[in-house]
Order: sequence, then C-alpha cells, then structure tokens
Amino acid sequence: MVWNDAETIDREQRRRRQDRRLRDVVASVAERVPFYREAFADAGVDPGEVEGIDDLAGLPFTSKEDLREHYPDGLFALPRSDLNCLHASSGTTGTPKVVGYADRDLEIWREVMARSLVAAGVGPEDTLQNAYGYGLFTGGLGFHYGCQELGAAVLPIGGGNTDRQLRFLRDLGSEVLACTPSYALYLAEQGEKRGIDVADLPVSAVVYGAEPCTDPMRAAIEERLGAAGFDIYGLSEIIGPGVSVECEARDGLHVHSDHFYPEVIDPETGEVLPAGEEGELVVTTLTKRGMPVIRYRTGDVTTLYPDACDCGRTTVRMDNVTGRTDDLLVVRGANLYPSEVEAAVLDLEGVAPHYRIDLYREGALDEFEVTVETAPGVDGEALREQVRERLEDRLAVAPDAVSVVGPGGIERTETGKARRVYDHREE
Ligand SMILES: [Zn+2]
Repeated sequence: MVWNDAETIDREQRRRRQDRRLRDVVASVAERVPFYREAFADAGVDPGEVEGIDDLAGLPFTSKEDLREHYPDGLFALPRSDLNCLHASSGTTGTPKVVGYADRDLEIWREVMARSLVAAGVGPEDTLQNAYGYGLFTGGLGFHYGCQELGAAVLPIGGGNTDRQLRFLRDLGSEVLACTPSYALYLAEQGEKRGIDVADLPVSAVVYGAEPCTDPMRAAIEERLGAAGFDIYGLSEIIGPGVSVECEARDGLHVHSDHFYPEVIDPETGEVLPAGEEGELVVTTLTKRGMPVIRYRTGDVTTLYPDACDCGRTTVRMDNVTGRTDDLLVVRGANLYPSEVEAAVLDLEGVAPHYRIDLYREGALDEFEVTVETAPGVDGEALREQVRERLEDRLAVAPDAVSVVGPGGIERTETGKARRVYDHREE
C-alpha cells in the first residue's frame, strides 16, 4: 500500500520533477532571502544558471549556526502575514531554531506524514495513540496532521503520564502507538509492574523516532510490545517528522525525495559521497515556501541506497540514524548539547569551570546526572540548589540528579581538561 503515486513513479519522471522544483526554490530564496542571496554570491553561484539536481553540489550549505545567527526569522522566505504556523527547537547554545510554515507547507507535512503512516501499515480504520509531545516540538502535531490526512483516529495524549497511557492502550485498544523508542520500552516495563502485559494489547505497530534506535533496541521493542517497529525520521528545520520512514520491508527509510532531496557528504571536506558510503546527511527542501533550506547540514550520520525496494516505492532509502557528526546528546527524546549545561551554570558565582554529565539507562529510560565543581571556599549545598534550578529552567530535559563536588573533585585528563560526557547507556 502506498499513499500516492509520487512514491512509485518512474525515477526519470521524479528526477525531472526534482530538477524543476530545485530551479524554483533556488530562484525563490535568491529573490526573497538576503542570507541566500549573499551565500550564492559568495559561492559564485548565479541562481539563474541552476538547471537541476546536477548543479546541487555547487550550491553552498546551510548550517544550524546559520539559523541561530539569523534568529528568529532571518531565513524566512515569506512575510509573517503569509505564514500559518511556527515551531521551534532547541539549539546548540540555547538559542532556539524557529521555523515557519505557509499553508502549503502544512499540506506537504500532512501528505508526507500520511505517506509515512501508510508505509508503516496504518490505515483509516486504525486508532493511533500519539505519545509525542504537542507544542513547539514538531513530533506531536506532525503525527496528528498525518492521522487527519489519512483518516485514522488520533488520540492526542501527548508525552508522559504513563498510567494514563497504559490505561488507554488497554481500554481503547489502539492499533498503533507513536512515541520515542525509549518510551515504548518504558511503557512495556511499567505495564509489567502494573500487571498489564503490553504484548497482549491490540497494538500491532509502533512508529518511533526523535532519537536514535539501534537494532537491539528495535528487537526489544518488538518483543516487549508484541508489535512491529517502524523507524520514522525528521527534523523541524526540514518539516518535522516525515522526512523518511521505513516500509514493510524495514530495510532502510524511504526519503520523501520529491519534497526533500537528500545527499550524503564527507563532514570534513563537504564532498558529496557516492551512494552506499556513510557520511553526514544534507537535505534540500524542494517545495517548502515559508522557510525553504538549501543543502541543510543535519549533522546526522547515514548512508543512501538508491536501489529498488520490494515494496514498490522508487524513492531513495537511508539507513537508520544512530550517530551524529557533533556531540549532540539525545536524552529521553530531547536534544541536549553538553555546551548547554555549561552555558546554564558557569556564570553562577562559585561554580568552577568543570562539570560532567553522566547518562545511564535505567531500564528503558535515560537517567541524566550533572556534577559541577565548586570554587574554593564555597558552600556546596546552597550552590547545588541554585544549579538544579538553573538547569531545570534552561534545559529541554531536567536532570534526575545534581551533585556538587569540591575543588579538584572532577577528574581531569592529562591535558588538564575535564571530560564532559560519560555516556554509560551502551555499556
Ligand atoms: Zn520499501
């Protein structure tokens, strides 16, 4: 089953569509977005000479830093009056990345999410329990729109509240659960504690995303929930969830490449890598109007596979993303950069410039601990409360524990620098 013909058309035909759309989006951003006008000029690109995908590698990249530098809306291609919706996600230094959607962009989002749900076997007769967060985060509303487009019933329960999640999974008998992979496992564990065997419930598909999911974790989800797991990928800078998704073959994620054109580059040199080689995923939005992006560097590591898939879709596939080119941590589905911890506490009086982050996996859920070091002669206990408050205030995910140690309490490496992150989750 596919949602529409765009997924199965002849590749030559899709390529012509991509060429045309790229010409349009390049012309549009060159005209409407000063950032791109300058970037093209700096790269010696004449937008009028861009004919199609073959010219893509000559265009400049767009980075997360570019979004941050032009916060909040410097990359928007339409005036606010022509936008329909805004979302925002956390950035490397706490500056959010704001994205804007025109009405047509929301239609595209609905379409790619409907395609994604159908690829995961969801039909109009199904009920989907949507345990992604609603709000500025794109996860909740992305799934919501997809269900509406498809005609499936959505239960907009949002994140958290495990008791209620389990109750509704049991009482409403939803066929589909959408949440992060770690939360799926957490629900199974908590169900067990409450005498509910989640594997016996009607859930037959779990559509998971927003954090990396390794093969062993997928196997655990499928076993504990008695359901097939489908990985979905996306990011708000491109659209939100719905950039790519696994089909029933579950052999890579189909990229909705008539809307989002993927490339894989060497993150060091920026060279485009041939299909089958692993590198950083770069995406160009071919159809978005509110905030199109040209060659956006996602920081996610993957591989592209253009060969045919048993499901009949002709779109290029990408590997599950399990790594990043930078040091982004994903904690309980939220993005966290170590530098955010630093930025949040280091200006507090009495905090020494040494801290560490410890991540554990407690059952299925991430445990996040922060330790900071005090300057000499500081009352650690009083400082601990200040640090905790500050972190809860500023970070997308609150630490489970905050510790304060005296001067020298955080181990240094030979170079004198403290190692910041101790990720014990894979141990
Ligand atoms: Zn397929």
